[in-house]
Amino acid sequence: LVELRGVQKWYGDLHVLQDIDLSVAQGEVVVVIGPSGSGKSTLCRTINRLEPVDEGTILIDGAPLPQEGKALARHRADVGMVFQSFNLFAHKTILDNVTLGPIKVRKMAKADAEKRAHELLDRVGVGHQAAKYPAQLSGGQQQRVAIARSLAMDPKVMLFDEPTSALDPEMIKEVLDVMVDLAERGMTMIVVTHEMGFARTAANRVVFMADGRIVESADPESFFTNPQSDRARDFLGKIL
Ligand code: ATP
Ligand code: MG
Repeated sequence: LVELRGVQKWYGDLHVLQDIDLSVAQGEVVVVIGPSGSGKSTLCRTINRLEPVDEGTILIDGAPLPQEGKALARHRADVGMVFQSFNLFAHKTILDNVTLGPIKVRKMAKADAEKRAHELLDRVGVGHQAAKYPAQLSGGQQQRVAIARSLAMDPKVMLFDEPTSALDPEMIKEVLDVMVDLAERGMTMIVVTHEMGFARTAANRVVFMADGRIVESADPESFFTNPQSDRARDFLGKIL
């Protein structure tokens, strides 16, 4: 469903993505881990075309990423993204945050968009907060709204870039529970996270990045019990 072939990207002299090949199948959950600065966020941003690549190709559902305009807006709608900071529209209600994209980009009727938004907000456990504004919600609740907002666009794949790292410990689980539920429902997901519990329970595959390269790609069990590279062993030694 998502395919990167020979992707290269530089920031000036910094070779931030080095010959990245990555295929993610329909329904697969891939967790990306690696040291700070290894290029994990950059990888996510290139898949969502928030950043252009210098070489290589990225295919979503067999189609290359559009460069601009309406096709790019549609592509962004197909690739949901949830960031560390929740990025909700502060001056819109929770309900409006979730219905805006479907109405504007998907041309959905307002009543249909609202019905679907209420279903999704219920599903992530914030159904009773629909009339409030983002600042009136906890961080964990805001992040769950951000997930509902992405889901409202009916994405083909969901990207998560450290979705729980800005949250207080007691709120992390409620967000991870929503993500596990999403994985169990068959959503294709690429998740940058240091939550190794999530990687062990929900991931089909762990990809370990260092210095802009994919150093290892393995099922979670073998990666955690038997990492192949010194870099991965060293990294796991620091975080586990
Ligand atoms: P972290 O775990 O800290 O989030 P990361 O693996 O997500 O790290 P990236 O944010 O992808 O790392 O950054 C990779 C490298 O690219 C870093 O050295 C960073 O400083 C650099 N970088 C990121 N964005 C830019 C930019 N817009 N311009 C120049 N350099 C950048
Ligand atoms: Mg990052």
